[in-house]
Amino acid sequence: MSVTLQLNLLPEIEAFLDQSPLPSFVGGKNFPNADGNLVATIDPGSGQQIAEIHDLSEAEIDRAVEIADAAFPAWAALPQQERSSILLKLADAVEQRKSIIAQIESLDAGKIEAQAAGDVQNFVDTLRYFVELSGKVEKRTKLDVEGHEAWTVKQPWGACAFIFPWNFPFLLIGWGISPALAAGNTVVIKPAEDTSLSAIYLAQLAKEVGVPDGVINVVTGRGATAGSALSNNKQIKRMSFTGSPEVGRLVGEACGRNLVPVKLELGGKGAALVFDDVDVKATAKALVGAITFHTGQVCCDATRWLVHQDIYDEFVAHCRDLMQNVKIGHPLDPESQMGPVVNPKQCQRVLGYQAKGKAEGAECLVGGGPAKVDGYEGNYVNPTLLAGSLDNVAAREEIFGPVAYVTAFETEEDAIAMANDTDYGLANSVWTNDKDRADRVAESMVAGNSWINAHNVFVHGVPYGGINKSGMGGGVLSVETLMDYYRSTSVVRPLA
Ligand code: NAD
Repeated sequence: MSVTLQLNLLPEIEAFLDQSPLPSFVGGKNFPNADGNLVATIDPGSGQQIAEIHDLSEAEIDRAVEIADAAFPAWAALPQQERSSILLKLADAVEQRKSIIAQIESLDAGKIEAQAAGDVQNFVDTLRYFVELSGKVEKRTKLDVEGHEAWTVKQPWGACAFIFPWNFPFLLIGWGISPALAAGNTVVIKPAEDTSLSAIYLAQLAKEVGVPDGVINVVTGRGATAGSALSNNKQIKRMSFTGSPEVGRLVGEACGRNLVPVKLELGGKGAALVFDDVDVKATAKALVGAITFHTGQVCCDATRWLVHQDIYDEFVAHCRDLMQNVKIGHPLDPESQMGPVVNPKQCQRVLGYQAKGKAEGAECLVGGGPAKVDGYEGNYVNPTLLAGSLDNVAAREEIFGPVAYVTAFETEEDAIAMANDTDYGLANSVWTNDKDRADRVAESMVAGNSWINAHNVFVHGVPYGGINKSGMGGGVLSVETLMDYYRSTSVVRPLA
């Protein structure tokens, strides 16, 4: 490792980082690039380089897909129980290495270590959930039709591609690949260039526990090179992209040209509607907790807080108190409550939106600007609360940092209209003790997900996905997600 951090790193992390430059992992072995192009991996908490990864070329990405495709028939042909037991072994191994993977993730993505451990456990739970579910899928379904014997048969597709963002690198891999693998597909994973380490570790671990070569492949590199090559590959059978709407459009266009089914999980600008019958302090605490969780780099965050006019001042006072007391620090420091944003570019984006919002008339009620953490030159920003008209750039566009925008409403109808006045459609929440109102408002908000008296709620078995500018193609975490990874053939025999 090329840096001397004042951090207590596990010896396994030192050994893992000593492999740097870390090659991709394809077909059960290291898969270095030929031209030596590397991308630096930086600890967002200290600004120091911790490793380098390989930036693969288009030809190398195509070769990785060929390898995944070649591994597909044998993996798909395994009896369900055998495939399940291999995947459960992987889930067990990830769980056993939770502290190692969490520390890699924390160092790489700037995620508070305890939160990173939660992400790793979520990966394990997701894999176990889809393995169990896949054992219950009826592969042949007889159809009761006149004059014909007919049935449908479900089979996996082949090599499926996944492109992931940097905010939940390991958790999102679990959400993405678990249903695909459980159904019998092979996978090619392209993690974000800023946060590829946990994916490489996973591929190495999969090899160690006996996942057949070529079933789980990790290809690394920049979006414009490796990501673009994967989304333009004609041999992939499905594409799942999680990231920004801007790149989602490019990936969708490429898949459209190649007629590859594509699922897009994109950004958001969620609202929290807070009515006047709530425990104001507890609600403020929950929303400040949500906007500072992973430094606000959460696609489904509530970033527009719509608060009933009668409790607005009290709510803002609690938020001020809570936000000013968030302990900002290095993600591996156990005292820290909020870490850095992922890179200097993201830092500039967050600060830039604050400046643009203020220039358009927003008032900065709390925080604003960069934050200083003693001993570390990381990408730290203060939790921030802006206020004003919702017709403000900071209230309309996704910032992806710990910045919320608060405004008052008078009636339920106004609140719903304000929540729905957005191009996005990912997740909103309603906060009230009136059950009928909660149910009514939850169903009136136009988005993939509505939560009641909570925000950021994920339950295995409940579909999660976005509509409009927040995504298309079905979402994740549910039975339907598993079904996406089976293709269906109808078989018909006319009866004489
Ligand atoms: P991004 O779109 O910049 O990058 C995502 C991935 O796409 C990365 O792996 C990147 O290398 C790759 N990429 C970049 N250019 C590409 C190209 N031309 N072709 C193919 N791939 C390319 O997103 P980000 O900044 O990493 O992540 C933040 C975004 O992700 C936010 O908008 C956030 O809301 C969204 N997100 C959505 C969900 C969800 O479930 N809806 C979850 C997490 C993050």
